[in-house]
This record gives sequence, C-alpha cells and structure tokens, in this order.
Amino acid sequence: MALIVQKYGGTSMGSPDRIRNVARRVARWKAQGHQIVVVVSAMSGETNRLLSLAKDVSPQPDPRELDVMVSTGEQVTIALLAMALKDLGFKAKSYTGGQVRVLTDSTFTKARILDIDNAKVRRDLDSDMVVIVAGFQGVDEHGNITTLGRGGSDTSGVALAAALKADECQIYTDVDGVYTTDPRVVPEARKLERITFEEMLEMASLGSKVLQIRSVEFAGKYKVKLRVLSSFEEEGKETSGTLITFEEDTKMEQPIISGIAFNRDEAKLTVLGVPDRPGIAYQILGPIADANIDVDMIIQNVGHDGTTDFSFTVPRGEFARTKKILDEQIRPHVGARAIDGDNHICKVSAVGVGMRSHPGVASKMFRALAEEGINIQMISTSEIKISVVVDEKYIELAVRVLHGTFGLDQAAA
Ligand code: ADP
Ligand code: ASP
Ligand code: MG
Repeated sequence: MALIVQKYGGTSMGSPDRIRNVARRVARWKAQGHQIVVVVSAMSGETNRLLSLAKDVSPQPDPRELDVMVSTGEQVTIALLAMALKDLGFKAKSYTGGQVRVLTDSTFTKARILDIDNAKVRRDLDSDMVVIVAGFQGVDEHGNITTLGRGGSDTSGVALAAALKADECQIYTDVDGVYTTDPRVVPEARKLERITFEEMLEMASLGSKVLQIRSVEFAGKYKVKLRVLSSFEEEGKETSGTLITFEEDTKMEQPIISGIAFNRDEAKLTVLGVPDRPGIAYQILGPIADANIDVDMIIQNVGHDGTTDFSFTVPRGEFARTKKILDEQIRPHVGARAIDGDNHICKVSAVGVGMRSHPGVASKMFRALAEEGINIQMISTSEIKISVVVDEKYIELAVRVLHGTFGLDQAAA
C-alpha cells in the first residue's frame, strides 16, 4: 500500500463528464488499497474568466481581493470531485487550502508555501477517506487567502506530497508526459520516459508550462518522486508517463540536448547612451528590483565615446511599468539618451545535461537559426542551457528548426 498524491489540472476537470472520469480513476487507485490525496485545479478557463471579471470592475485590482476571488475556482472543483467519489461509494472529503492550513507568505497572487499542516489529512486517510485539497491556494499567518501564481496547483500537489512523505506525486494533465518540446507546437515532439530533475527545472523555468517551476523546486528540495501522466488514457491502456529522476542515467548514451523550451512572456528594454562608468548597472536595475519586477537577461554593450547601451528583459506583463520607471526615474537621473522597448520578443532555449561534455552546441544552434534568417537579439548560457531572444514572429519556426537540428524529431529517434 502506498500513499499517493494525484494532481488533476484544469482540462482534466473541465466538465461534469471529465470530473466523473477523474473520480473513476481515483477510485481505481483507491480500490487497489492505496491511500490517495487529490489536488485539483479549477475547471479550464475559470481562472482566466475570474481574472478578466476583476479587470472589468477594476483596472488594477487589489491583490488581496483578487486572491479571495480567484481562489474560488478550486473551491468549486474540490466539492464536485468529492460528490462524484461519494456517488461511486467511496468516502471522500474536500478541503480548501486554508482549511488544511497550507501556510504561505503574504505575497498575494504569487505567494510561497512556508508550511503544510498534515494532521487533518492524515487523520482522514487513516479513516479510509480520499482527501481532496484545493490547489493554487493557501492562507497567510493573518488568515488572508493567498494564491500561488498561475499553474500553482502543481506546486500544491508536490508540496503536499512532501509534507505527507508520499511515495509518489502524480501530475495528471492533458498530455501523456513531458515531451522534447510542446507537442502542440511541434507535432514531431517525442515523449521522454525520464528526464533529470535539473533538466526539468530548466525546461520549466524557460517556459515549458507542463510543470510550474516551483513544483519542480519543491520536488528537488524534498526528493519527491514526481511523474507526469495523462488523465485521458482509458482504463487498461494507461502508460507510465514521464518520471523526473534525480540521477543521470549513466547506462544509456545521453542525448546532448533533451528539449527545446520557449517563452512568449518576454519584453526587452534598452537604455541608450548611458555614461559608461562604475555603478551604472546598479542605478538602472536597483529601482526595477525595488518595484519587485523580475529581470531575466541583461546585456551591456562595449562602451564607445564614454557611453554605452544597456538592455534587459522582463515578463511581458511588466513591460509598461518598467518603461515608466525608466522614462520617469532612470533616464533623467543617469542622463541616458533614450529608452527603447520591444514587447514582441520571445525566448527560445535548448536544454540538456549532455551539453556539459560536448562543446559546439551554441555554434550549431546559431548556425541553424542563421540559415532560417532568424536574427538573434540576445544570448544567455548556463552549464546546461543556451537561450536566445528572437522576434516573436519566428517563435514556432525557431523551435521547429532547433528541434530538428538537435535530432529530437520522432523520425530521428
Ligand atoms: P494543466 O491544466 O493540467 O495544469 P497545463 O496546460 O498547465 O495543464 O500544462 C500542460 C500543457 O503544457 C500541455 O497541454 C502542453 O501544451 C504544454 N507543454 C509545454 N511544454 C511541454 C513539454 N515539453 N511537454 C509536454 N507538454 C508541454
Ligand atoms: N487554476 C490556476 C491557474 O489556472 C492554477 C492551476 O491550474 O494550476 O493558473
Ligand atoms: Mg498547469
């Protein structure tokens, strides 16, 4: 008998039929004698609907109130799933994040989990219940409802698995595992049987939304056995999805590149003609950090005539706010010539632990993009990834070309 945490995403919970389907899958695992905790997302589209409703009422909704509202999507699905399980003759009980006590910090709309009280869940499991917990939400030390950022139910699932020392955390979604790239963009993408934790961390942080980055961080920190699977496979035809492993497979020849990730949620800002002197990077990026805006790539050009250009990227949703800070505070303060911005860029990345031992990956990547006439605007590298910023209109072409170049297409396997 194992203790298993299963997380079902929005598409899996997207209609009454699908919820009954999830209930049947949970029931099958329970009937095998396992202890089951289920974490669910809101029905697909519901979180977006709630967010736009808030925007219709208030152009810049208050973050605390936004969390009170947007967390309701998951409150609906926990109860519906509990009803469906009871109809199948199983004992089940639903809890909101606050009722379990998923304790978070108070950063509304992107709170971090600090602690999970597992007492109620354990008690219910011991009395043979299926415990259903709302994903994406928690409560801060003052009792305020918080949410964990888009895709946050993955993190709820893995964090609960860690708190309960579960044998496995299964992330059920609308694809049957982690692929070499998003299969919706590249139909030739291949499903990976396993992916290393490090690679998954990079893929998630570089835009592969199949797992929220924080869920992968949690899995790494607490060594949670994590698997991505499909909730749509028929009974008897289930496959084993993709396992996130903590060891590099030394028996098999490692591919140099394991996957291509991409992110549309990017914008670039350039401060032109700033004096080339010590402290300038701090003077530009200090106020951006103070405004709680995440800066990703940074490039400072070689100085010329005592001045230089300084570019960096931010999430696209922060573009207007960043530009305003640059125009109003930074330009007059540091004496820059102009501020330039582009919010139609994207980032495409090649990820693979094999890169460590194989030089030449970057040049292969740049040549493939050049042959398609795709201009590279920025580059950043780490030990196991190379990222480039390109015009958004090339995103699908760039991903497909790189996928083929690194031998990831199905036909090449
Ligand atoms: P859920 O609602 O179940 O949380 P998401 O939409 O958040 O599902 O994540 C699943 C989606 O992630 C897939 O439908 C797929 O389009 C996308 N995706 C992006 N990159 C990958 C990848 N490398 N492998 C698999 N799916 C990916
Ligand atoms: N419902 C939330 C969202 O759409 C959380 C999740 O699905 O993981 O982002
Ligand atoms: Mg998701």
